[in-house]
Amino acid sequence: MNVRFTCPACEQPGQLQTPLPAEWVCPKCDQALHLKPENAEPALTACAVCGNAELYRRKDFPQTLGVTILALCCVASTATYFYYQQWWTWSILIGSAVFDCLLYLLVKDVIVCYRCDAHYRALPAGSKHQPFELTTFERYRQEQMRRKQLQ
Ligand SMILES: [Zn+2]
Ligand SMILES: [Zn+2]
Repeated sequence: MNVRFTCPACEQPGQLQTPLPAEWVCPKCDQALHLKPENAEPALTACAVCGNAELYRRKDFPQTLGVTILALCCVASTATYFYYQQWWTWSILIGSAVFDCLLYLLVKDVIVCYRCDAHYRALPAGSKHQPFELTTFERYRQEQMRRKQLQ
C-alpha cells in the first residue's frame, strides 16, 4: 500500500509506503506528523495520517479526462451524423460506451480520507470501503471551515 497526503501545516505533498513509520517530518517546514501505522495494516480501518475512521472509495481515474473523452465523442458523432456517415456515428457512440466500461473495470480503486484527503493506493484486495457520499463530505468541509475561522 502507498499513501499520498499533504503536510497539515504547509500543504507540502508527501508520499509513504507500508510499513509506515510512526513519524514523518515535513521536508519544507520541519513539522513532525505523528502517523498511526496500526490503522493501515493489515486492513485500512482508519486514516493513518489523521486517525479519522471515515474513508471513501472511488475509481482512481481523473474525472476531467473521462469528461473530455465523452465530449470529444459527442462532437465527433454529431459531425459524422451531419455528413450522413451513419456507420461512423454508431461506431463512435458504441466505441465510447465500450471504452467507458473497460476503463471502469480496469481502473483500480483509491481510498480517500474525508478529513485530510490522504489517498491510499495498492490496498490488499477485499477492503470494504463505502463509495463517496456527498453529505459526509459536506459535514467534513463545514468542520474544516469552522476550524479555519477559529484560527
Ligand atoms: Zn510542512
Ligand atoms: Zn485523514
